This record gives sequence, structure tokens and C-alpha cells, in this order.
Amino acid sequence: MQWTVRLEARTSRGKVTTTELVTFSRPVVVSTLAEVGLMLSETKALLAKLQASMLCGQVAEYAAHHRACAACGVLPPLKDRRTRRLQTLFGTVEVEAPRFKACRCRQPVPMTGVTVSPVCALLTARCTPELERVQAELGARTSFRDGARILEALLPVSPANHESLRSRTHAVALQLEAADRQAATEVMAVRNEPDEAAAADERRPVVMLDGAYIRAVPGYQVRNFEAICGKVEREGQPTRRFALVRSVVEQPHALLRAALQGQGWREGDPVTAISDGDPALPALVHSAIGGPVGHILDWFHLSMRVQHVEQVMGGLCAVEPPLLAPLDQARIDVERLRHLLWNGHYEKAYEALGRIGSWAKDATVLNNAAMEAGAKRLVARCTELRAYIESNEGALIDYGQRSRAGKPISTSRAEGTVNQLVSARMNKRRQMRWLPRGAHRVLQVRAAVLDGRFGHQAIQLTA
Ligand SMILES: [Zn+2]
Repeated sequence: MQWTVRLEARTSRGKVTTTELVTFSRPVVVSTLAEVGLMLSETKALLAKLQASMLCGQVAEYAAHHRACAACGVLPPLKDRRTRRLQTLFGTVEVEAPRFKACRCRQPVPMTGVTVSPVCALLTARCTPELERVQAELGARTSFRDGARILEALLPVSPANHESLRSRTHAVALQLEAADRQAATEVMAVRNEPDEAAAADERRPVVMLDGAYIRAVPGYQVRNFEAICGKVEREGQPTRRFALVRSVVEQPHALLRAALQGQGWREGDPVTAISDGDPALPALVHSAIGGPVGHILDWFHLSMRVQHVEQVMGGLCAVEPPLLAPLDQARIDVERLRHLLWNGHYEKAYEALGRIGSWAKDATVLNNAAMEAGAKRLVARCTELRAYIESNEGALIDYGQRSRAGKPISTSRAEGTVNQLVSARMNKRRQMRWLPRGAHRVLQVRAAVLDGRFGHQAIQLTA
């Protein structure tokens, strides 16, 4: 059997042209299941022919339509015909780009050599926006090599190599960043009405930030470099992710500011930031909003340090024979620590830690020497936690109260963002090494893809 696919094109003037695209043949009676229906190779050939035919027709129409002089309507003479190549999802197409002499009416002094090429004005890039978007999305979701293989396997796209995916991903990242910077410079209306301001306070955005380390390429100045990841959450809004490698981005705060604005934040609105003890993170939020930030120390990071104290204490309590006072009293204080910090009594917790530390120092005198090491560890852990509380004093809150109000107290969700943004694309298991600039750009596209900000026709693949 034989099938021929013909394309019938009809212009607005009613002119019809028919082009034969491809012919498929099969044995009259198929012998295996594999021979039934269209093959991938045939489909790719068909798509490539269809694309070339459609595109050339469109471009020719465009050139003909724009040939006439806009001022006098005269058709200027043809100077020459050149060709332009356009990369598309369905193959690279070579199109004819006729050049016309500029109309005399538009030149008071006739100039020779002035030409007009309408096709060049139309084809402003070497590839279609759709190809660029698909390549960038694949490049953000998976490795450039895997992305190129997927494209090459399914579509007649060319070039489908990993360099092309990388450069398109980078190009799209630059566009996204430029759009963010532009958005960040726009003057946002300040809320004047007291009701509005109160409503804004009630629904204040929460920025959750966390750091992640990415392996650098061999020979780079450091083995690992840091990426800041996070999300902006606001009641009634879809979450907005952001990520940046601070060492390579000119205005890191502009990216965060754009993310906040995307969530409906306005100049002067209060913002809450939750992060671990790294002072650089709330400082970034501060410079993004140009005002004070309600900083909350992440409960998870605080709780981890309490756990360290509890674990060492647990080890000491397991020692035989049972502890003598005063370490026994220290145990009671350790048991209260978590409760005190959870309910915002951090001054009491701070004092308790001091007591535990000094008791532990005395403990080795009264108890046997075997527990000296454990007691030293307890002193060290208490000192660590005390220092942590001291350096984050302004960021400690009544976690219990905030939690009961249904508000976030932890960056655990930001850590989920780190996993989605960084680990799944750049983790060590994949043996990937990065340069900060490349990682930063992939992260821009990846955040946009995961947010669904990347065009409404974004391909839906699980990351
Ligand atoms: Zn003219």
C-alpha cells in the first residue's frame, strides 16, 4: 500500500497551491505489528517537510505584502535574492529573503545601494521562540546532553546538540533576569489607605531562604560555591521560587524584589523572612525591600542545636552508675530547653544553658573521670547553643504562638525548594560540576519552569 501526503495552501486572495510532502509505502498485507501505522522516522520526515513548506509559504507572502512602498504604493524593483536559515522545533528551514531597492519617493536624494529586506526584519533571531523555550526548559529540567537526546529522538529539530541546549538555556536565563531587573526598578504605588495597609500586613509575604552548595568544575578557585534558594509565599498566591549565585549576579536583591512584586508586594509593605543563622540572608531581603525585615530564626535549625544538647545529655544519663548531683539537676534544665525556646522564653533558656554548662564542669569532680569526655561535650554544645541564641537574639519569637496561628516557622519548605531547584539538577550523584555563572543561569530557568511562569504552553514533565 502507498500513502501520499499533500499540503493544500490557500492564500487570503484565494490562490490555492498543492505540494506533495511525503509518500509512505508498506507491503500490501503487513506481516508484523511493527509495520502497522506511522513510524517515528516517517513522522519526523513528514513534520520537517510540512514545516519547510508552511514556513516558506508564509515568508514569501510576508515579503510580497511588504514589498510595496508604504508611502506611494509603488513596487520597488528586486535587487537580489538571499537565503536565511531559521532553526525550528521541526528542522532548520532555509528561506528566501528577497531584497528590494528602496523606493525613490522616500529619498529626496536618490542613493544607490540602499535596499530593503522585509524577511530580515521578520526573522529577528536564528531560531523560533518556541524552539528556544523548549530547549531552555529541557536544559533546566535535565542535563544538557539528556535534553538534546530527548529532542533528537522525538523531533526533526536541528541542531539538537547539548551546546545548543546550553546556549539557549543561558539566553533564556538572561531574558528572565532582565525582566526581573526591569520589574524591580518599576515604581510601585504605595498603599495609602489604612485599610489597605492593614490588609497588606495581615497577608504579609513570607520569604524563606536557605543556602545550597554546588560542586565547582575542577580548577575553579573553590571546590564548592553557594547558591541562595528560597520561595516567597503569600496567602492566596501561588508560591514563587527564586535562586541565585550571589558571586556572579550584579544586583541579587533585584531578583528577590521582582519575586516579591510578583506576589503583590508593594513598597513599604512589611515582609517576614525566615532563615537559619546566616546574617547574609535577611540582609538580602532587607536590601530587596529597602526597609526593615521581620526576621525569624528558622525553628528547624534552632531545634537541631537543642537536639545536640539533648543527645549528649541522654548519653550521660545512660552511664552506670546513675549520675550524682549536680549533673542530675542539669538534666532537668536540658529537658526544659526545648519548651522554653518554643514558647519564646529564650532569656530563661539562655540562663539555663549557662547553668547546665557550669554544672557539667563540676560534674567530673563529683562523678567518675570516665564521664569527663561526655561532660566536656555537653559544655561545648551548650556554649554553641548559647552563642547561637545570642547572635540571633532579634530573630527569636514565640514559635508556639505563631505555629498555632497557622503561620510558617521553619524554612523546611525552603529546603524542599533547594531540593527541587538545586539537588535534582546539580547534585553530586550526577557527578556534575558547575561554573557559578552557568549554575546561576540554569537556576533562573528552573525556578521559572517549576513555578509555571515559563509561558502557558510549558511542557509538562515531572522534574
Ligand atoms: Zn514610494
